[in-house]
Amino acid sequence: MKAVVIHAAKDLRIEQRPTETPGTGQVAVAIATGGICGSDLHYYNHGGFGAVRVKHPMVLGHEVAGTVTAAGIGVESLRPGDRVAVSPSRPCNRCEYCLAGLQNHCLDMRFYGSAMRDPHVDGAFRQHLVADASQCHKLADRVSLAEGALAEPFAVTLHAVSRAGSLLGKRVLVSGSGPIGVLCTLAARAHGAQEIIATDVMDAPLAYARKVGADRTINVADDATALTELGRGKGSIDVVFEASGNAAALGSALAVLRPRGTLVQLGLGGDISFPQNMVVSKEIEMRGSFRFHEEFALAVDLMNSGRVDLRPVVSETRPVDDAVAAFELASDRRRSMKVQLDFA
Ligand code: ZN
Repeated sequence: MKAVVIHAAKDLRIEQRPTETPGTGQVAVAIATGGICGSDLHYYNHGGFGAVRVKHPMVLGHEVAGTVTAAGIGVESLRPGDRVAVSPSRPCNRCEYCLAGLQNHCLDMRFYGSAMRDPHVDGAFRQHLVADASQCHKLADRVSLAEGALAEPFAVTLHAVSRAGSLLGKRVLVSGSGPIGVLCTLAARAHGAQEIIATDVMDAPLAYARKVGADRTINVADDATALTELGRGKGSIDVVFEASGNAAALGSALAVLRPRGTLVQLGLGGDISFPQNMVVSKEIEMRGSFRFHEEFALAVDLMNSGRVDLRPVVSETRPVDDAVAAFELASDRRRSMKVQLDFA
């Protein structure tokens, strides 16, 4: 089978790997679609992020869906032919955080396509994947495998919404309209936000935000006065989802939040400075949001029941053999939103 393997920055290869046989409690999945994520792009463009570096070849990818081809002993929930979204999250379920229901904080996490551990954990950009049956969530007939491969990034945004608390009747700003920002807009809409304003520094991604239901979009590079207006008095926004990781965007988020408003930080930006006096004087709640756990099943359920339509988020699909071109395309925010690989 073919697998997409990162060796170093700008050194991505399509390699042959042996297929595996499912063991007890496992299934084999013929992967159909894999979405390229921002973290995959960090490995591709920079060889990693922060202290996390690719030290030896690693199969990339963690946003996948496919069809079950074989089930191991003891698997009763899945049969060959079932179409599934595969959760890349594999917590140990034994450590103190797992036992407290905080699996996204597992001390022994084996997340697909991550160089955080050494040896690295191989990812799911491959034609055949053996996974635990519990990682595989059945897709309804109405949901395509391409849409199913969006369950993972959508789960990230559902987790962010859960970190924010109730959005019913709230005025929400989504800062940064890449794939996570756009899915965050969808998640906030599904959770009863009254008004959603999406921002970015480019027009192309904002068109996607409008397509999935943002009430208003602001290109902050062209129109800084719009943010000044939102920050009038002590601010007018109840909840900001900060998905850019950019220092200036964080400063703007704090300026537009109303007193006791909530900032949910999703974007990773390293060590950046921000006006902490504003956090104090406006009593702003700053909350981080990292990965997801139970929200993966919720993401699939929302798609299966037709309550969300994630399809507009996909901008291009490329055959696995063109993975390098697909990664270049996904790196260009002017030309793409979510780029997916076709493994069939
Ligand atoms: Zn654990």
